[in-house]
Amino acid sequence: MTMGKPLMALRQVEIPLPQAFANAVSPELFERLRLEPIPPLFLRKPQGQNNPRWLGFCSFAEHTEFGEIVMDARLVEAAEWQPRSDWIQFVYLHEVAHRLMPGACHNGAFGAMVLLLYFRAGVANEIEMWQRSTLYDFQDEGENLPRVLAWAWKTAQELALTDLRAERCADVIAERYERWCAWLAAEPERSRARQADAQARAKQIADLREGRYWWAAGAFALGAMMATVLQFV
Ligand SMILES: [Zn+2]
Repeated sequence: MTMGKPLMALRQVEIPLPQAFANAVSPELFERLRLEPIPPLFLRKPQGQNNPRWLGFCSFAEHTEFGEIVMDARLVEAAEWQPRSDWIQFVYLHEVAHRLMPGACHNGAFGAMVLLLYFRAGVANEIEMWQRSTLYDFQDEGENLPRVLAWAWKTAQELALTDLRAERCADVIAERYERWCAWLAAEPERSRARQADAQARAKQIADLREGRYWWAAGAFALGAMMATVLQFV
């Protein structure tokens, strides 16, 4: 069999830790994140017409050699721009969130996870890292987006302040997200129940009003009768 072109293979080789990466993703950062380090694999994406549009990506762990996440090598090199620690953390933590939430893609659970990591990361290059969170992180949510943003913000802020390891936070977020989705799915049913309740109350009030008129009419008639009777006493 021939492929028309030479067959190629990729091989990982050990390299010295790029200084810009070491500055941005330090042991202190992992302490703040309460996270076991996840190794990065630096790939040089091809330039040109079919330039792939990624800064990093995360394959399922079973398809990797060391559970690594992938980053564009140019993020840590001085080329068209000087390496920026907030950009390196932004890409690294985004891919780390994918590693911690496999299969979540860019839903609310993923968005909450990445926000939590950014909250814990704090400030890089004078930028609060939560500002690096974008709607891209929540793109699978569609019309639920406004509500999921509020949910993710609250969840991430609460968990970021706990002593829980980031890996455990991922489990908690996944559990809470599932419950939140079930609550959201049951909303039409709750709305119908609220409507039926409101209608029942309105009917009760109308019935009471009607009853009041009858009682008033009855009392008037009784009074008139009594007055007539008393005239002849
Ligand atoms: Zn992503």
